[in-house]
Amino acid sequence: MEEDGTKATELFSRGYSFTYDDVIFHPHYIDFPTDAVSLSTRFTRNIRLSIPCVASPMDTVSEAYMAASMAALGGIAIVHSNCTPSQQASIIRAAKSLRLPITPSVSFVSPEDALPASYGRYVFITESGGLPSKLLGYISSSDCDGLRDKQVKLIDYKRDCKTVEYVPWNYDLGKIEGIFEEKKCDFVALERDGEVVNVVMKEDVVRLKGYPKLGAGTVGADGEWMVGAAIGTRESDKKRLEHLVKAGANVIVLDSSQGNSIYQIEMIKFIKKTYPQLDVIGGNVVTMAQAHNLIQAGVDGLRVGMGSGSICTTQEVCAVGRGQATAVYKVSLIAAQHGVPVIADGGISNSGHIVKALALGASTVMMGSFLAGSTEAPGAYEYKNGQRVKEYRGMGSLEAMTKGSDQRYLGDTAKLKIAQGVVGAVADKGSVLKFIPYTMQAVKQGFQDLGASSLPSAHELLKSGTLRLEVRTGAAQAEGGIHGLVSYEKKSF
Ligand code: 5GP
Repeated sequence: MEEDGTKATELFSRGYSFTYDDVIFHPHYIDFPTDAVSLSTRFTRNIRLSIPCVASPMDTVSEAYMAASMAALGGIAIVHSNCTPSQQASIIRAAKSLRLPITPSVSFVSPEDALPASYGRYVFITESGGLPSKLLGYISSSDCDGLRDKQVKLIDYKRDCKTVEYVPWNYDLGKIEGIFEEKKCDFVALERDGEVVNVVMKEDVVRLKGYPKLGAGTVGADGEWMVGAAIGTRESDKKRLEHLVKAGANVIVLDSSQGNSIYQIEMIKFIKKTYPQLDVIGGNVVTMAQAHNLIQAGVDGLRVGMGSGSICTTQEVCAVGRGQATAVYKVSLIAAQHGVPVIADGGISNSGHIVKALALGASTVMMGSFLAGSTEAPGAYEYKNGQRVKEYRGMGSLEAMTKGSDQRYLGDTAKLKIAQGVVGAVADKGSVLKFIPYTMQAVKQGFQDLGASSLPSAHELLKSGTLRLEVRTGAAQAEGGIHGLVSYEKKSF
């Protein structure tokens, strides 16, 4: 038979920088059902995940609720470091205490706070104004409505905590349902070591039960959710690391936009020597030479991507980077020779991009914008032009750097801040507990079309040249999207 399509090795040696949308896989042969596809994977040398999804260390993506929910789904989140070390450590502890990955639908304030502009069915007053914390009292939304426009402190109007039903933090869904049934209460407060770690409403339980069934979660040796943490490469990050290790961080991501540096190599060596049991992910890299240096330094995973993120202006500002499809393919080639898993970071906006990243050699994908509109992402929803949105910002945006994330982009000494990212907004997507399982089902269908029943099988098919690709022309890309319709409604599931 005549040659059809192009082998990856040929396609990616032509001197072009390809993005995911530039390339398309040829379908192969199906001899198994979709449900036979396994997406279980390695995140690092020593950490396995049941789905290949990682939430990015960004302050509009990964805090406690995202971390608990991603772990409950079988993925993982990396808690950002754009806060003090003790705040980052307390986010990790909070995530690990959320055995039930429920993002509360009620509001929280501190005793000093006035009535928030919007609130859920109850407003809870806690010592810290958030969770975990000591509960001081609560007010119903109807009481709150009566206090609107009055300059009062909520603490003066609170109801007594004696009426609150407290249950242990590790109660499962069934036990909590039993409490609602028995006590006829509206909510329960989950408690650990004298602090409330979550407040769960009856309707939150109903909502959680309506989502696809959770599979095997990502649980560490301590029996709690695995949670990752980002740090920089400054001397002060060694102290931060100590806090994070004490809080139970299971893996460390060295958060630099250009990871091939003496600072990162020295930090990798320091961590490996001080905490030999702790896996370290290096990056970001996009070339084989960059990857080679970090592999030699001892990384347990490589984060790949430069300039591919949706909020990122690095390629425009600094003239460096690489198309993400090429970067993932090239780095995966060298990483595979050393048994180091690759994380394809940035540029994921649909399930097809995830299939491409994984088939090109990555073991997981790291996502920012794909997750930032979810219930679990930090921040409140607001309305822009009639659409419900959440803020999503680059960690290299001036706004984020003002809070401290500048070392990811400016290295060690730069005094003048130049932005490499923007602040924007993304549409409300609902809960990750719902849309990630649907996305994974779509990825499984993609793998079935490729004739690959697992990630290692896809990698093998690519290496052997069985999987073929082609570059899409502009017209082919337009044809591959929805076209020629006067109007349409897109429902993904
Ligand atoms: P997304 O999933 O939104 O396409 O990309 C998220 C990724 O973009 C992050 O994981 C991180 O690698 C990268 N990133 C986050 N903030 C910035 C930024 O301000 N500038 C640049 N250059 N990259 C960013």
